[in-house]
Amino acid sequence: MESERMMRAARMYGKLDVRVDMLPWPRIEKPDEVLIRVTHSGICGSELHAIEGYELSKGGLSGALAASNLGHEYAGTVIEIGAHVTSVRPGQRVTVVPRGPCGKCDLCRAGISALCRKVTHRGGSWADAIVASEQLVYTLPDDVPNEVAAITEPLSCAVRIIDRVGLKAGQNVCVIGAGPIGLFVAVLAKHAGAAHVIVSDIRASRRELAQRMGIDVVVDPKAQSLREVVMDLTHGRGVEVSIEAVGLEPALSQAIELVAIGGTVMWAGLAPTHITVPVSPNDMFLREYTLRTSWGGVLEYERTIRLEQAIDWKPVVQEQFSLDHVMDAVQFARTQAAGKVILKMDDK
Ligand SMILES: [Zn+2]
Ligand SMILES: [Zn+2]
Repeated sequence: MESERMMRAARMYGKLDVRVDMLPWPRIEKPDEVLIRVTHSGICGSELHAIEGYELSKGGLSGALAASNLGHEYAGTVIEIGAHVTSVRPGQRVTVVPRGPCGKCDLCRAGISALCRKVTHRGGSWADAIVASEQLVYTLPDDVPNEVAAITEPLSCAVRIIDRVGLKAGQNVCVIGAGPIGLFVAVLAKHAGAAHVIVSDIRASRRELAQRMGIDVVVDPKAQSLREVVMDLTHGRGVEVSIEAVGLEPALSQAIELVAIGGTVMWAGLAPTHITVPVSPNDMFLREYTLRTSWGGVLEYERTIRLEQAIDWKPVVQEQFSLDHVMDAVQFARTQAAGKVILKMDDK
């Protein structure tokens, strides 16, 4: 019998236990599928939470996340295509939407396919290769390297957040939390014409990264009152757009405190299921602020890839680890010291 070709794949065995296994090289099974050699794959906060054992949705994504599903933010090179594939060919560099709308359910038919629950989901990019369906694959322009393209999924979430807050040029924006999503949103807000973007994070390395990415007002909330900084800059009014990118208290409440009358609060952080927030309906009524959330970003890939061309994201992807050292990468990501932590597959 011909010996089967094997690949490395990181899989979760339990809380804080991720191991690199040898698995059979994946095969194209349907004519619309594409086989991709993964070169770079990011570590998502949702994966970190799952590895840490947090429950992220009732009965859904949780610490029991299927062992084979780790990794959904990635870029690589097409190595084989199915018989019906026409839009990509072998040798092209690509990135992939990890969940595609079904196109058939009530949400899709109502035009809100971004919220489709019957998604085709194919995680498993913390591996040497992965199969994806053609409709989810986007080719990369020459000036977007794979390491940057590996942030397309979280960056597209940030693009959708900017859409959903309805940011207008000249508005003031506060972003609480400079993890990848918070940082991306802050940079995009600046790019979209915000007058002041105020970013707050307790971690010095994240504040430095925010400054490197062009954010002018960066606050250490342990040394300075964020509220005072915001109120000073806005003549006591608060910001028109207040974005929480942590998913925990007191950040969620603070986003409400800092918003101006008539402004928009965005809860962008993925909060574990046990988190609740006291909201005063009276305050909400009198200040008439809008409270919004934003779930993922699957329809924004084209615009996101253009923003990868337009903005230099290299400072965000400096921390790269070999797939062989996946737990080192996970532990480093847990320190929240970096921008995006990237797993590299092609360093052998
Ligand atoms: Zn993600
Ligand atoms: Zn659907």
